[in-house]
Amino acid sequence: MRIDEILKTRSSGVSFEFFPPKTAEGRESLLRVLNQLEQYSPIYVSVTYGAGGTTRERTKETIFQIKERSDIPIMSHLTCIGATRDSISNILTEYMNNGVDNILALRGDKPQGMEDFDISKGEFRYAEDLVKFIKTFNYFCIAVAVYPEGHQESPSLEADLEYTKMKVDAGADFAITQMFFDNRFFYDFVERAQKRGINIPILPGIMPITDFEKIRKFASFCKATIPVEIEDKFARISGKPEDMVKLGVEIAVKQCEDLIENGVRFLHFYTLNKSDAVTDILASLSLD
Ligand code: FAD
Repeated sequence: MRIDEILKTRSSGVSFEFFPPKTAEGRESLLRVLNQLEQYSPIYVSVTYGAGGTTRERTKETIFQIKERSDIPIMSHLTCIGATRDSISNILTEYMNNGVDNILALRGDKPQGMEDFDISKGEFRYAEDLVKFIKTFNYFCIAVAVYPEGHQESPSLEADLEYTKMKVDAGADFAITQMFFDNRFFYDFVERAQKRGINIPILPGIMPITDFEKIRKFASFCKATIPVEIEDKFARISGKPEDMVKLGVEIAVKQCEDLIENGVRFLHFYTLNKSDAVTDILASLSLD
């Protein structure tokens, strides 16, 4: 079922992002997580796609496995850096033939071993090119990634917004943000986007901080600011993993409560294939 249609009919809701597990054990565990999260009637669940297509088969398998086990609408992430039109066409055709009708269209980052790859020589240069290509199938709901603090390679917030506008105009139906830990970045981005004529739904990407060091590294790579107050709170409980999870949940609950109070109706959770933190967060929220 197309997510753009669901977003028009549901008044609020949540979505969950998974990565494709590497092992049979990981796959079983993901299905258990999915079972636990089903109680929240997610708008959709999505599965990431490794940089440069490195998880191509696993992403597909995970998508089909979830589809077989559940009625939750599903979305596959798809990156185009280093990919050919033929390979993208093949995967889209397979999805289409199997009723997978939602794609998160991404450029992706250069994977390890591909650092010398010259993007300008690829068949797809930016996510915008992929959006245009997917559009030609006349079948998929297309989502794109957006960056409240600007994408790490963008020269300025203004340039980033212009490129975002271009990929939205190419045919995106909705957008999901990069993680952020200070809601002001999100509110400011949404305001700038609306002023620039970007009128598609923008879902905030929520990353519960359950492992501070790991998230800090990731946040620094993708230019997501962790406010000093949050850093300080984690510094005080360093070396206590259980307290860290509790604090991470507390911070995410506050963040989501503030978003809901400010009229946000849909929340997208980066789950890291775990359900505990997300269920604890959702137990404290009232999204009708
Ligand atoms: P683009 O929109 O193409 O932007 C890339 C850069 O190019 C930006 O700096 C942009 O401003 C600039 N740009 C865009 N168009 C132009 C233009 N016409 N001229 C000049 N510059 C331009 N990565 C994965 O590998 N797998 C995943 O599954 C995955 N899932 C993600 C999910 C979400 C919600 C988010 C926010 C990110 C995800 N990523 C994933 C990371 C993403 O691939 C990286 O952030 C990547 O660096 C950019 O991808 P993009 O689609 O935003 O690229």
